[in-house]
Amino acid sequence: MLKQITNSKECLACKIPCCIFLKKYKEYAPYLSDDEKEKLSKNKMINEKMLSGAEGEWRLKLNEKGGKLFCCCVDSETKKCNIYSQRPLDCQMYPLLLMKSEGGNKVLIAADDSCPIVKKKTKEELKRHAEYMRKFFKGKKYYLYKNKKMVCPFEKESMIIGQI
Ligand code: SF4
Ligand code: SF4
Repeated sequence: MLKQITNSKECLACKIPCCIFLKKYKEYAPYLSDDEKEKLSKNKMINEKMLSGAEGEWRLKLNEKGGKLFCCCVDSETKKCNIYSQRPLDCQMYPLLLMKSEGGNKVLIAADDSCPIVKKKTKEELKRHAEYMRKFFKGKKYYLYKNKKMVCPFEKESMIIGQI
């Protein structure tokens, strides 16, 4: 399990919980590797109805409620994740994420500055966590190749804090 830069206390107190998506971000629904999909299905944490996509590009479904899109694993009342202990790597990384470089030949680490905790961190703290992520992915080139859909397209305005 990857250590997240935020903690659950900060996330539960958050006014803009990221498990509830704005419609314009629907393509960022949590990504699941084939192994994560298998494990969560085997442990009866998810079922086929909670999935969209296909092999190599599974995502958790988002359900519309009150104009917003709720991850199918979030409790809409408590805002808690029902699969927290087994949440996908995509969720463990957030508010940091993987992003293609402009030319597409590198994998960068970006921070989503819409997260209030990212705004509170110093540049050094963000870079330190990016370095921790770089080490986590060291030797996992094949994993990234197999799960390339987990890597977001390049966005010019993003806060880039590292590279895999
Ligand atoms: S936006 Fe940041 S603080 Fe808020 S729930 Fe998401 S990761 Fe946690
Ligand atoms: S799987 Fe859990 S942590 Fe990830 S978006 Fe859904 S509710 Fe949030």
